[in-house]
Amino acid sequence: MNFFNKGDDDKWKEKYLNLLDQQELAEKLSVENEELLCKTVVRLALIAKGFQKPLDPYIDKIYAAVKSGLQNSQLKQDLEALTRAVLTLNEIEETDSAEVTSLLFDFLVKLYSDETKVETFRQIEKKQLNNEFKSRNDLFNALLAVTEPTPDSKELHVPESVDSTERIATKTVCSQLLMLLNDLEVPFEFEERAQLLRDQLQASHNAASLKSLLNQFVSLLVSIKNHMESEQNDIQEFLSYITDQLTELGLQASDANAASQQSTLSRNKLDQFVAEQMQDLQKTSANATNLDPLKQIINMRLEVIAQQIKLHREQDEQQRLFAQKQLDELSCRILKMETEAVELKSSLVMAHNKALRDPLTGIGNRISFDERMETEFSRWLRYKTSLSLIIWDIDNFKKINDTFGHKAGDKTLKIIAQLLSENCRNSDFLCRFGGEEFTMLLPNTDSESALTLANKLRMIIERTRFLSGGKTIEITISCGISDFKENDVPETVFERADRALYEAKNNGRNQCIIG
Ligand code: GH3
Ligand code: MG
Ligand code: MG
Repeated sequence: MNFFNKGDDDKWKEKYLNLLDQQELAEKLSVENEELLCKTVVRLALIAKGFQKPLDPYIDKIYAAVKSGLQNSQLKQDLEALTRAVLTLNEIEETDSAEVTSLLFDFLVKLYSDETKVETFRQIEKKQLNNEFKSRNDLFNALLAVTEPTPDSKELHVPESVDSTERIATKTVCSQLLMLLNDLEVPFEFEERAQLLRDQLQASHNAASLKSLLNQFVSLLVSIKNHMESEQNDIQEFLSYITDQLTELGLQASDANAASQQSTLSRNKLDQFVAEQMQDLQKTSANATNLDPLKQIINMRLEVIAQQIKLHREQDEQQRLFAQKQLDELSCRILKMETEAVELKSSLVMAHNKALRDPLTGIGNRISFDERMETEFSRWLRYKTSLSLIIWDIDNFKKINDTFGHKAGDKTLKIIAQLLSENCRNSDFLCRFGGEEFTMLLPNTDSESALTLANKLRMIIERTRFLSGGKTIEITISCGISDFKENDVPETVFERADRALYEAKNNGRNQCIIG
């Protein structure tokens, strides 16, 4: 028996197909949602990483699990592990914050000797540990009520301590600025300004002058930056000038080329013209029966040819003159450019030399050291003849600045640079590495010979008396030495020499040690 007639059959079929479509759509959506969810979790994991170091391994696991699609059971385990880690983290933080709170209150109690205040602090501490304050503001207000001086307060020593803290802070900022300034590669034009600022930083101990010094420091930095920008602009302008000149030269050369082509063209025309006239004459003379008319015709033709040759000569001469003029101009230009190139080269050499020199002592600076180290290192790699490095550092130099002033310090640096460079070989290389540190590279010298030289230099400096502002300054210097050994690179040798220098300082200074 048939329950459905044909119409019903179609309806059910249509309904079934619709349901299939819907099912397919829902599955597609679910896959898309799953992908989106995975992407979101991956991104969130990336963002969350690093916020709390202890949680990172758990986040990494979730990241790895989700990156290759959702795997429910694995993800569930990972999430539970993360939850546990977060809970322990809160506990750690709570213990930390309890420790910090009691530390803070111990400090406050030490700071204030007044018994009633101490008592109130302890009460506030208890309230804070029991989380009785609703907000941080409430806690701060409670603390402020105790710490703010009452009008009749007798604790007038507080401003004094503030003042001395301020002085220490100012001094620290000044010495940091001084160090920054000493590390800065100051162009020659700004050296005087930088020196003035160094002197002021050296002398300043109050906060009032600090603001103006900071302003001066910033303005110096801005000036140096502008100066460098303008130098760069100059170079760019010069380059575009050279480019213009070269373009013009190229145009002139192509003009000259065109002129010479023109001249060849007109000579070819003349040749063709003469050949035509000759052919014509041959034809006429072959057909001629009378000599006189023939003579006349020949004369006429010759005249025309002569005229053409004259015209051609004149044009040729004009073109030759024009080409000559252009050639002269071209040679002039080339000569001028050659002179300019020579000048530019020498100014570049000068600028390079200037960039390699330390303006205060006149000896090489750190850049020149790096360059020389590269050369000596590759020579050592090739020939394996001995090569030593010495790192010098003046002993207690800060004291010289503090006792005799920055100018005396500078003078000492200049004299020491001079003594070191005068008492070593020409092939040895000396530079001011920075501040009161000098480095030496000694080719063909092993560490034992370097030690002998270093001790000689050390004793010369120990015996020298410097005079500054009528006062006698005595100074000593220490060094660390190392020579290049198998598998060494500049950095390893430098590290050994630096460690040896550190040892020399620890052993009481005024000594040279091989590392
Ligand atoms: P140590 O014996 O341990 O080397 O003590 P030190 O005082 O020599 O060393 P420290 O690093 O504490 O101080 C170095 C000082 O050198 C501090 C810095 O102001 C001074 N200085 C650095 N460059 C210059 C400079 O160009 N001129 C002057 N006058 N002083 C400088
Ligand atoms: Mg030093
Ligand atoms: Mg020193």
